[in-house]
Amino acid sequence: MYQIIAPPSAVYAMRRLEENGFEAYVVGGCVRDSLLGRPPNDWDITTNALPEELLRCFSDHRVIETGIKHGTVAVLCQGDLLEITTYRIDGRYEDNRHPTEVTFSKELRDDLSRRDFTVNAMAYHPRVGLVDQFGGATDLEAGLIRCVGDPKSRFEEDGLRILRAIRFASILGFSLEERTAQAVHECRHLLQNIAAERIREEFNKLICGKNAVPILREFADVIAEFIPELRPCFGFDQRTKYHCYDVWEHTLHALDSMGSTELIPRLGILLHDIGKPAKFTMDEKGGHFKGHGEESMRLTDEILRRLRYDNATRELLLQLVKYHDVALQPQRKALKRSLIRFGSQGIRYLLEIQYADRVAHAPDNREMPDFYAVIPDMIRQLEEEDTCLSLKTLAVKGSDLIALGYAPGPVLGAALQRLLDAVIDDEVPNEKDALLNYLQNK
Ligand code: ATP
Ligand code: MG
Repeated sequence: MYQIIAPPSAVYAMRRLEENGFEAYVVGGCVRDSLLGRPPNDWDITTNALPEELLRCFSDHRVIETGIKHGTVAVLCQGDLLEITTYRIDGRYEDNRHPTEVTFSKELRDDLSRRDFTVNAMAYHPRVGLVDQFGGATDLEAGLIRCVGDPKSRFEEDGLRILRAIRFASILGFSLEERTAQAVHECRHLLQNIAAERIREEFNKLICGKNAVPILREFADVIAEFIPELRPCFGFDQRTKYHCYDVWEHTLHALDSMGSTELIPRLGILLHDIGKPAKFTMDEKGGHFKGHGEESMRLTDEILRRLRYDNATRELLLQLVKYHDVALQPQRKALKRSLIRFGSQGIRYLLEIQYADRVAHAPDNREMPDFYAVIPDMIRQLEEEDTCLSLKTLAVKGSDLIALGYAPGPVLGAALQRLLDAVIDDEVPNEKDALLNYLQNK
């Protein structure tokens, strides 16, 4: 176990509270991450000072009061924004998500009891040491996510904890303690009551975690609560010599072989074959999935809209999913067209997806075409050249054509597009005189 070393801002805030006669501890994720030797995202402080007392202690600081009804104020200390929360007991939960009321408490143990998992329910004070009344440190060492209290009732209070449990397991490389795991399966339908944005955020973290694949395999039923389109993929026999796994296992193997921990290519791989079951046909040669890229794209669109992904992410993913199966061509012209479609980052994602997809095929069908090795260099070269790929960087503008006698309108637009196509196809350099000459000779 590693030591807990709170940053100066947190130490300062704790001392300020103590000077005013209160208790204060760092608590939750920062204690967990410190003990694991991982850098914490943020340092939260818990205290027996009531919200109005808290405000008084920090009246000479910038304070953000938006969470004050639930006992949380954010205080700007030495440039860090710290969340300081009064010890709290959560009241009855009405909609599996929000406590209808919170009661403030004078006891640290009350505050620790309301927290979701033992590894998240530890507090620390430089003088007092670690306060760990639920065996969080033991579970950390064993790599276990275990609910504080009875798992089923904790999930019934707040359904989001179901996803948080598997998200932490994925990120930390942990497993779920047996009763917690069982309750996650049994209570999975409670996710229906949770806002799409919250599900999306947990899911994003989950699939980027180092343990994502075993967790997705073990809790596929939970994922299917909010992505039911995956269900037909589970166990779907592909009946082709190109594949040795069913659609879902293929997807998981592909994710497993993906080097990247970035969200977009990982989402892309998870969704790339989701349209396969609907497109399955069979003949004497075996199973076929003609048009599954399009179908996967259609389903991806529905899923990403439902989970409220932003438009840029959705639009890029639709292209990546649709074309996941289409080989890139190692010619300048073709690659320029691909750059226009996917963008340079998008092409890198597409390459990652195509490699990961290949590795998860049947053993004698895992090789990428040889020419794939040269594509990254070709892309880099195009980027270094700063190649013209859009009207924005074309050396001829609409005004140049108007000066030549073109009238503004569709004919002028078509002429510009023709010039752009010629530049992309390397028929003419992107230089004004050359372009105008080219146009007049056509
Ligand atoms: P992260 O690294 O994702 O920030 P975290 O553990 O800090 O992990 P937060 O969502 O920031 O997670 O919450 C801070 C702490 O508040 C948690 O460690 C946990 O003790 C408690 N907590 C957060 N959400 C819940 C919840 N839904 N139910 C019970 N306790 C919760
Ligand atoms: Mg946190």
